[in-house]
Amino acid sequence: MIAVSAYAAPSAGAPLERTTIERRPVGEHDVLIEIKYVGICHTDIHHVRDDWGRGGFPLVPGHEIAGTVAEVGPGVTKYRSGDRVGVGCMVDSCRQCENCRNGLEVYCTGGGFVGTYADSERYTDGSPTQGGYSTYIVVDERFVLRIPDALSLEQAAPLLCAGITTYSPLRHWNAGPGKKVAVIGLGGLGHLGVKFAHALGAEVTVLSQSLHKQEDGLRLGADHYYATSDAKTFQELAGTFDLILNTVSASLDGDAYLSLLRTDGTLVYLGVPEKPVSANIASLMLGRKSIASSGIGGIPETQEMLDFAAAHGVGADVEVIGAEQIEEAYDRVARSDVRYRFVIDNSTI
Ligand code: NAP
Ligand code: ZN
Ligand code: ZN
Repeated sequence: MIAVSAYAAPSAGAPLERTTIERRPVGEHDVLIEIKYVGICHTDIHHVRDDWGRGGFPLVPGHEIAGTVAEVGPGVTKYRSGDRVGVGCMVDSCRQCENCRNGLEVYCTGGGFVGTYADSERYTDGSPTQGGYSTYIVVDERFVLRIPDALSLEQAAPLLCAGITTYSPLRHWNAGPGKKVAVIGLGGLGHLGVKFAHALGAEVTVLSQSLHKQEDGLRLGADHYYATSDAKTFQELAGTFDLILNTVSASLDGDAYLSLLRTDGTLVYLGVPEKPVSANIASLMLGRKSIASSGIGGIPETQEMLDFAAAHGVGADVEVIGAEQIEEAYDRVARSDVRYRFVIDNSTI
C-alpha cells in the first residue's frame, strides 16, 4: 500500500483535519497521479455535512482532481509519467452494461458508477474510495482524463465536475446558435454553464438572486442578467428560453421557472434539492414543456469537454487556497460568496 497525506472529515459536520490514508499499489492498468490541485464542489460540502445521509466517515472529499502522472502500471497504454491528467466524480463502473459500453458510465445500470469518494470499489476489492483532498491517487486509466496543455491545472480542475455537469446538458439539449439558454445561480457550476453556453453560440441569460455579480456575469459571456428576487423578471422573461439549467440546490418555485420556457423548452435540474420537486401539470402541458435532470457526463464526453474548453479558452475562474483554509472556503460557498470556484493547492496538504 502507498501511504499519502490527506484532509478528512472524521465525522458528519466535523472540521476537516490532516491525516494519512492508504492507496492501493499500482496495478496492471492503474495510473498513480500526483494531485496538484483539487476543486471544492458544493457536493463536497453536502457530503461532509451529511446532508444526504450517505455517511462514509472518515471522509476525504474531492472529485475535481488535476495533476501529473507519477507512475503507470505495465498494462497502461494511454498515459506516461509526467502527463497532465484529471479525475472527476467516477473511478470505476461495471464496464459491461449498455450504458458503460456507450460511454455513459455515469448511468451504469450494472451496479452504478463508483464515486471518487464516499463509495466502495465494489467491482474489485471492496475498499472505500477516498477523494482528491490528498497528495496522490491511484485510478484505472479508463477513468483518467487528459488535460490539454492550453489549460492550466488549477483552471482545469473544476472542469472535471462543474464543467462536465454543465457541458453535457448543453450538448444534449442542443444549446447553440439561435438558442436562448438561461442559467440559474452563478456559482461553480453556473459560471462554467455561462462560459460553455456562450462558447457554443447560444444567447445566454443569468438568473441570479441579486444583481451583485452582474458585471462578472456579462464578462463571463452572458448577454443578459436578471435578479430573481425582482418579480418583474418573471413577467419580462415569460416564454423566452429553449433551455434553463438550474444549478441551485435550494427548492425553487417550479411553476415560476417553467413559465420562462418557450414551447418545447426544458428546465434541467443539476442541483439536488432536499425535497421532491413539484410543478403543476398545466405548467408543462401548455407549451409541451419538460422538467429533466442530468448527472455529470460519461468519460468520452468529459474528454470532449476538456478538448472543447482548451480550444475555446474556457477555464474556471478560481481562487487558489491552502488546505488550512478549507473550513473558511466551505462557509463562503455556503453563503454564495465564491468567485467562482475554490481550488486547493495540494502542495499544502
Ligand atoms: P455553488 O458554487 O454554491 O453555486 C450554487 C449557486 O446557487 C450560488 O452561487 C447561488 O447563485 C445560488 N443559490 C444558493 N443558494 C440559493 C438559494 N437559497 N436560492 C436561490 N439560489 C441560491 O454550488 P455548485 O458547486 O455550483 O453546485 C450546485 C449544486 O449542483 C449543488 O447542489 C451540487 O451538489 C450539485 N451538483 C450536481 C451535479 C450533477 O451531476 N447534477 C454535479 C455537481 C454538483 P447566485 O448567488 O447567483 O444566486
Ligand atoms: Zn462536484
Ligand atoms: Zn455499467
